[in-house]
Amino acid sequence: MSEWEKLVEWIENAGFCETKIAEVMRKTPREQFLPNDLKQYSHFDHPLPLGDGQTTSQPSLIAHILSKLELKEGMNVMEVGTGCGFVSALMSELVSEGKITTIERIDRLYNKAKENLANYKNVEVILGDGSKGYEKNSPYDRILVSAAVNEMPEALFQQLKEGGRMILPLGSILFQDLVQIDKINGKPNLTKLLPVVFVPLVKE
Ligand code: SAH
Repeated sequence: MSEWEKLVEWIENAGFCETKIAEVMRKTPREQFLPNDLKQYSHFDHPLPLGDGQTTSQPSLIAHILSKLELKEGMNVMEVGTGCGFVSALMSELVSEGKITTIERIDRLYNKAKENLANYKNVEVILGDGSKGYEKNSPYDRILVSAAVNEMPEALFQQLKEGGRMILPLGSILFQDLVQIDKINGKPNLTKLLPVVFVPLVKE
């Protein structure tokens, strides 16, 4: 068993996610998405720097977020904050025939993520300010915001389907609560999941 597979086994046994998600993680080694000098750390359950002050989350947290998103085959999903593209790749596998639209504002990360995701045909990587969402591909069944916000971005909620779910780190710049927002009768229904620390969402 590789070091990565051992980490995924630990994540699954610790109850962070269901078997289906663990299976997808197992066959998607994080090292493929990391800069060369960090590949050696890919199997540690730790966030890692991506350059430009950005980080990719620890794998157990990613597993837990994917679990809470309850992705199903065929879903239309948007991610704000592509980073290295690792989470987009996992979501791509989980929605299968569905589609992932992922938005990144930093040129260098966007270009690298595009390269990393070249084989994931159902992922569209967009360069731009994701705080406005991406109306063209909406409405979405699921939205994941991978950078911290101090209030729910209204534009994103608008682009969510009725019955859809958005997950985002909501709070101050120093720490946030990971929050699940379900759109029920057109209104946001909030559930706090756990305390987290994400880099801030930068609005243009
Ligand atoms: N899921 C990613 C997390 C990357 S960190 C991964 O695992 O690699 C958050 C990312 O959000 C950073 O790459 C940052 O550049 C990006 N970001 C911040 N503000 C943004 C905005 N307004 N629109 C799009 N991307 C943004």
